[in-house]
Amino acid sequence: MLVIMRKDSSADQCSGVEDAIRRMGFTPLPVPGADRTAICVTGNRDPVDSALLSRLPGVLECIAVTRPYKMVSREVHPQTTVVQVGDVKVGGSEPVIIAGPCSVETEARTIAIAEAVKQAGAKMFRAGAYKPRTSPYSFQGLGEEGLVTLKKVRDQVGLPVVSEVVETETIDLTLEYVDALQIGARNMKNYSLLKKLAKVRKPVLLKRGLAGTFEEWLMVAEYLLSGGNEQVILCERGVRTFSDHSRNTLDLNVVPLVRQVSHLPILVDPSHGVGKRERVRSMCRAAIASGTHGLLVETHTDPSTSYSDADQTIDVESLRGISRDIEILVGLEDLFGHESNPAVA
Ligand code: PEP
Ligand code: MN
Repeated sequence: MLVIMRKDSSADQCSGVEDAIRRMGFTPLPVPGADRTAICVTGNRDPVDSALLSRLPGVLECIAVTRPYKMVSREVHPQTTVVQVGDVKVGGSEPVIIAGPCSVETEARTIAIAEAVKQAGAKMFRAGAYKPRTSPYSFQGLGEEGLVTLKKVRDQVGLPVVSEVVETETIDLTLEYVDALQIGARNMKNYSLLKKLAKVRKPVLLKRGLAGTFEEWLMVAEYLLSGGNEQVILCERGVRTFSDHSRNTLDLNVVPLVRQVSHLPILVDPSHGVGKRERVRSMCRAAIASGTHGLLVETHTDPSTSYSDADQTIDVESLRGISRDIEILVGLEDLFGHESNPAVA
């Protein structure tokens, strides 16, 4: 249930509604908005008695929220959220490219890659200092040394930086060095990590889990928003299916669906979706056509020598090609005009 307050309602009237919701045994969550004040009723298993709330001073109307996710839903928050990472906006009409190697590498190599991807059109740099790897014998990331390098990328190259946190113990340290935190696919349902990330004051890039349904993924985002962090960017990176011709199955179905039912920005990561560099560019084009707010693309100046995920890492020339593709595709007003494309509504 969403209680919409009148435009001229007072702060006292809003607190009155919140108190009434608490007396009913539920939890009120104020939803800030540009054009209206709303209070979401959460914690209810049964339908809420809207008659009582509708009669309270300052209340305009009560709207039933039909989905299990509330703060994430467009019903509750009609305008698309634009998440700002450094000076880069994710969720606006310009698709954003986030690029970089899978792992942070030596300082010299990482900075050279950052310079090159910036020249090729990337607006943000992403590389992992902590790597959750399938094999315990694989490279596990440089840890704090990698974070120090990421900060140098931001300061010297001028790109905002994103990196993954894999455990609660390293969140505070990582926050000192990066502009946004990634929750990896393997950790989509790591609830202790999620609850702590709900309290941080930096954006979170939330990848969909390998076997996460659409609703489970949005409920995870709900943990972050309801816990206090509204700066969430969703990222589709492929799910595990019976198909064995690609590393994962990139589920582009979710892009228009996210844009329809949620106000959160959505990115697509074709690198982990296909797992082979020769097919990454095609799926970037498909992702842009589906309405994504941006791409996450593993890119390297010498891809075959990448510390991790070498097979799916593209070179800088290919990234330049993807930037050109985006310009061409977003220039197709008939396809991507705000009025004509329901995905952009
Ligand atoms: C990564 O981004 O390099 C990574 C480990 O991704 P995912 O969590 O999607 O597997
Ligand atoms: Mn990777």
